[in-house]
Amino acid sequence: MKIVTVLGSTGSVGRTTVNLLKKSSGKYKVDALTADSNWRLLAEQASFLNPRFVAIANEQYYMQLKDALSSSDVTVAAGANAIVEASEGAADWVMAGIVGTAGLKPTMAAVRRGITVAFANKECLVSAGCLMMEEVKKHKTNLLPVDSEHNAIFQVFETDNRSWINKIILTASGGPFRDCSLEEMAKKNPEEALAHPTWNMGKKISIDSATMMNKGLEIIEAHHLFGMQEDSIDVLVHPQSIVHSLVSYSDGSVLAQLAHPDMAVPIAYALAWPDRMEFPMAPLNLADIGSLSFHQPDSIRFPALELAREAIRSGGNANLVLNAANEVAVEGFLARKISFADIIPVVKDVLQREYHRAPTSLEEVFIMEDAARRETRAILQKISK
Ligand code: MG
Repeated sequence: MKIVTVLGSTGSVGRTTVNLLKKSSGKYKVDALTADSNWRLLAEQASFLNPRFVAIANEQYYMQLKDALSSSDVTVAAGANAIVEASEGAADWVMAGIVGTAGLKPTMAAVRRGITVAFANKECLVSAGCLMMEEVKKHKTNLLPVDSEHNAIFQVFETDNRSWINKIILTASGGPFRDCSLEEMAKKNPEEALAHPTWNMGKKISIDSATMMNKGLEIIEAHHLFGMQEDSIDVLVHPQSIVHSLVSYSDGSVLAQLAHPDMAVPIAYALAWPDRMEFPMAPLNLADIGSLSFHQPDSIRFPALELAREAIRSGGNANLVLNAANEVAVEGFLARKISFADIIPVVKDVLQREYHRAPTSLEEVFIMEDAARRETRAILQKISK
């Protein structure tokens, strides 16, 4: 029986993972669940799945969580160290589902145990990709990408035929502003930017999808995960979000993975790996869908893609700066301090100011991210006046 831990079990990926675990009772034993602040949902999940350990990052909810689980024998803990402790438990499979920098330490702790880590936190690879991949190699960790595009590539990436792979192609829905002009985009408010046409996701990733920075971050993610150079990673806009990505081989064959745009598919794949799981989802009916379309992304309207490529080429800590600046710029847009059209120019501005060598430890990652965030906030303050 697989022993699993879900880091970030109350987030979007975490909830889907928990639902799959509920449906496959008897096949998995849950070691630990963690959440940031949503103690009610965490307690509810724990009552059902009966883990050994639960941890809540936000210490102010410790008593509520403890009271809610008082009739069970679950060990309850709180604080950032408790989240790391959760990933160091007995699990042989960990879902790294914590969003943003908060996921770095616990994900690294799981990677260092040399187990199987389902990787749903793209920021970890963007900010600390080199450090993370070094540890993956050192500890022979099985890294299973959960991001739908990278999961698709993982499924059709023939590791034994690696030298015959000449390109990987990430598909992109194009986001809610796919067909908007630059003038139209500039006027968009947070509500419009949050309305994604095919995927139902969190706020940060929805805005990233509207600017296409999400795809930029995914280019960086793919660069680290599959060891591909930036110019061997293409992006193709595919509005239907059915083909999740493709791998192109030197003999002319292109392999792709197709599925409904539902995160349950890559999560179920990761959970069952190396087997497959059976779960109730309507079969993919291509005849009903009728046609699939593809086109090149527009680099003028979506400059985030080229900016991410520039960051990879620059090396050092540029990927980290890009990610931190983008986080702050997106927050600024959601708080209506800057317009939609300001987001990517702000990131570009920070990227040109902040440039340093690559971080050599997670501590350095945090310090460099803080510096980039401060720089971005200063710029936001100037332009929002
Ligand atoms: Mg994705």
